[in-house]
Amino acid sequence: IARLGKNYQNAGRTLHVLENISFEVKAGETMSIVGPSGSGKTTLLGLCAGLDRASTGSVELNQVRLNELTEDQLARVRNQYVGFIFQNFQLLPTLTALENVMVPLELRGEKNIREHSLNLLEKVGLAERVHHYPSQLSGGEQQRVSIARAFSNQPKILFADEPTGNLDAETSEKIVNLLFELNREAGTTLVIVTHDLELAAKTDRIIKLKGGHIISDERTHHHTEAIV
Ligand code: ATP
Repeated sequence: IARLGKNYQNAGRTLHVLENISFEVKAGETMSIVGPSGSGKTTLLGLCAGLDRASTGSVELNQVRLNELTEDQLARVRNQYVGFIFQNFQLLPTLTALENVMVPLELRGEKNIREHSLNLLEKVGLAERVHHYPSQLSGGEQQRVSIARAFSNQPKILFADEPTGNLDAETSEKIVNLLFELNREAGTTLVIVTHDLELAAKTDRIIKLKGGHIISDERTHHHTEAIV
């Protein structure tokens, strides 16, 4: 990410939500983004994941410059490399939990989709809820479906916006363990937006945002030299 900026036009005024943001995430690294409400965390995550386009500067993912891609090419990059856990889940309301998890796999034309998706739902503790629709699930359960869906295409990099925001302590711990397991076992790079400082301390590195600027970018004691 280099000199990234994002503006929104609102009632004829330009709102600078992000200004001059530059950082690099290494493969296999775990990073958290923290900062007050409205500081631009969700916006930044969306730009990194190719869900939204920057106003200035550039985002490079796996040596591909996202700014230069068409919408179709962007969608392909997302489907191939990226997992995203949304703050508000963004499940498809007309599909069951199982079907929601199957969508990214169907797009990739994979085999054994159903079995793989059932396994993922079991991993997040939802084996009993696979045929429920989002409206029949609690907030925490919807969160877990969205996590299973984000894992389903075995992403190289996983972006998570408040992945534990709606969960009780026990489920939250389970989910955090799952995220780090994915990082250890598959080498998945993790970028997590969180208000949970305990979770942030478990990542290798913490970026603090304030008013659309990075005010600090520091390694935690979890960081090991091997990652440099
Ligand atoms: P929170 O912790 O509350 O989720 P955040 O740090 O993730 O906050 P963002 O959601 O990135 O913050 O929002 C940053 C700023 O951009 C806010 O002031 C918000 O009102 C504004 N903003 C976000 N999306 C839009 C949009 N689509 N149009 C106009 N303004 C927007």
